Amino acid sequence: MLDFTFLGTGTSTGVPVIGCDCEVCRSDDPRDHRLRASILVRTPHATILVDTSPDLRVQMLLAKPPRVDAVLFTHAHADHTAGLDELRRFNVMQAERIPVWATEATAGDLQRRFSYAFDHSISFFGGKPDLDLQLFDPTEPFTAAGVEIVPIPVLHGRLPIVGYRIGGLAYVTDVKSIPDSSRLLLDDAEVLIMTALRRKAHIAHMNLDDALAAIARHHPQRAFLTHLAHDMGRFADVAPLLPPNVQLATDGLVVSGVSVTRSMP
Ligand SMILES: [Zn+2]
Ligand SMILES: [Zn+2]
Ligand SMILES: [Zn+2]
Repeated sequence: MLDFTFLGTGTSTGVPVIGCDCEVCRSDDPRDHRLRASILVRTPHATILVDTSPDLRVQMLLAKPPRVDAVLFTHAHADHTAGLDELRRFNVMQAERIPVWATEATAGDLQRRFSYAFDHSISFFGGKPDLDLQLFDPTEPFTAAGVEIVPIPVLHGRLPIVGYRIGGLAYVTDVKSIPDSSRLLLDDAEVLIMTALRRKAHIAHMNLDDALAAIARHHPQRAFLTHLAHDMGRFADVAPLLPPNVQLATDGLVVSGVSVTRSMP
């Protein structure tokens, strides 16, 4: 079995938003406070981080994983990558280089922005991350830290990005549309995590209606909505509107008992 933790469930600004005094940003309900989107997946033998949000330091202080065996990137936008430097603590704790997995396009962006993290000629001693960049073909499964990972190609507006299927879990953030060729990979998940930015339409993200329609089409046992913006509304107001198998994700929420191997539909 695997379990996972929502390290962050907010859109790129996080919630509250700097300088905003809307009712969500002023809310004292902790379920309305959202760090940038990321999950941490634990199998019996591996801990896998999906994305390195700008809030990674705080997220790791709260979740306290003893190690990170691999990092999977969905895409290179700053809200999914800007915390990459914080991985250096895991290099020190583990005394080893850490593999990070990305498509060729995402890897190119990571190398431009964080070239020092992938330069093995510089000794690190905790002063910089020491990462092994591993490329994968988004149309083929691969193995990271001994775990089968199935990339799910989706479109973030016009940008091709990936979600991931890990056993019974499907994580699809920052998606606007799902190509037909990816639909089978989303079917019958035990847990499906989808972007739902807000109620209004957005050019690059599913809104609430889009996400609920996608969830209904893929009939997961349970679904969670993530990458939420302040204009989605307060947790307490939105949660009662959702179908019984769909929840708003919240920071720090742990979900356990998900299959590590995928039953093929
Ligand atoms: Zn994002
Ligand atoms: Zn606000
Ligand atoms: Zn994005």
